[in-house]
Amino acid sequence: MKAVRLVAPTVVEVTDVPVPEIGPGDVLVRVGGAGLCHSDVHAAHMPELPFPTPLTLGHEIAGTVAALGSGVDPAAGIGEGTAVVVHLCWSCGVCRACAAGEDNVCEAAGRMAQPLCPGLGPDGGMAEYVRVPARHVVPIGDLDPVLAAPLADAGMTPMHAIRSAQDRLGSDATALVIGVGGLGHVAVQILRATTAARIVAVDVREDRLEAAVRHGADIALLADEALEAVLGLTAGRGADTVLDFAGSQSSVDLAVEAVAPNGAYRLVGILGGAPRIVAAPSLGTGWPWGASLRRTYGGTRSDLIATVALAQRGRISVDVERYPLTEGPAALARLEAGEVAGRAVLVP
Ligand code: NAD
Ligand code: ZN
Ligand code: ZN
Repeated sequence: MKAVRLVAPTVVEVTDVPVPEIGPGDVLVRVGGAGLCHSDVHAAHMPELPFPTPLTLGHEIAGTVAALGSGVDPAAGIGEGTAVVVHLCWSCGVCRACAAGEDNVCEAAGRMAQPLCPGLGPDGGMAEYVRVPARHVVPIGDLDPVLAAPLADAGMTPMHAIRSAQDRLGSDATALVIGVGGLGHVAVQILRATTAARIVAVDVREDRLEAAVRHGADIALLADEALEAVLGLTAGRGADTVLDFAGSQSSVDLAVEAVAPNGAYRLVGILGGAPRIVAAPSLGTGWPWGASLRRTYGGTRSDLIATVALAQRGRISVDVERYPLTEGPAALARLEAGEVAGRAVLVP
């Protein structure tokens, strides 16, 4: 079969590989759609990787179950032909965190708490088939796998960040969404569908802001005008929730200056920004008393199920650009150049 592979650090190619073998407890998924995440761009540039190559990329996967490994009981609801999306946190299922429903920070993954992720460790879904432990698929009913694939990350990750800030998203709250690309344009829709907060979208590109307004943002601001505008909108207190899908130095600076006292800053993007929070007696500027910061990773199985449910009811929909699998490297280049509107999805 064809697969988009990181054949060595910084080298992405379409190559021929055998269809994966499945073992006990696995399913073989025939890929219907594989989304491209900005994290794939990051992975494609790392000179040293924390996982071995060659590796098939792709952690946003939806498709159809093509075969069951031994011990997978179709009575449990997953059989040949079931349409599924893949939960990207391949966590242990039994540790303290997993038992508490915090399987996105599984303890078996050590202190940094990043469970195995297909496409960033085990082979992923930018291929015709992928091996997945049966425990990590979620049925999608009659959702189109091409539209459902991005729910695995561009949907679930914002869902997790938003749920973790629920107490700062009341009807009198202001939510600032920084970076309304792949993840951010879905975050705006999840906020619209699950909260009554005022939604302020921020980006460095006008076209992203237009899409955010189409998806339910109340106000859209270019990044360089955002701080003054947000403080103006909130009588100087700032945004109760800040969701940062950029994670650059300029976006974390904005978040630190714009988050309200007791507010929630949820940092998702990984562009190298370092939020400056100083423990000193002087009040100074920046981080106010009571505000909290969470560096938020992926989402739980429950978050994915909740995201799929919203999509099935038509309350969220991902803007998708479709590409043949063989155009994976070109689509990755477009994403890096900022040219993808919404999410690029490879269709094998
Ligand atoms: P994307 O390229 O589709 O979207 C990023 C958006 O941010 C773009 O619209 C871009 O114009 C905008 N942007 C960039 N710099 C900005 C700034 N300073 N201020 C405002 N907007 C800015 O990327 P994506 O796939 O949505 O991923 C977003 C980030 O989240 C990436 O860094 C990715 O690696 C990371 N990510 C993290 C997790 C996690 O679990 N923590 C999961 C998925 C993705
Ligand atoms: Zn991702
Ligand atoms: Zn665990």
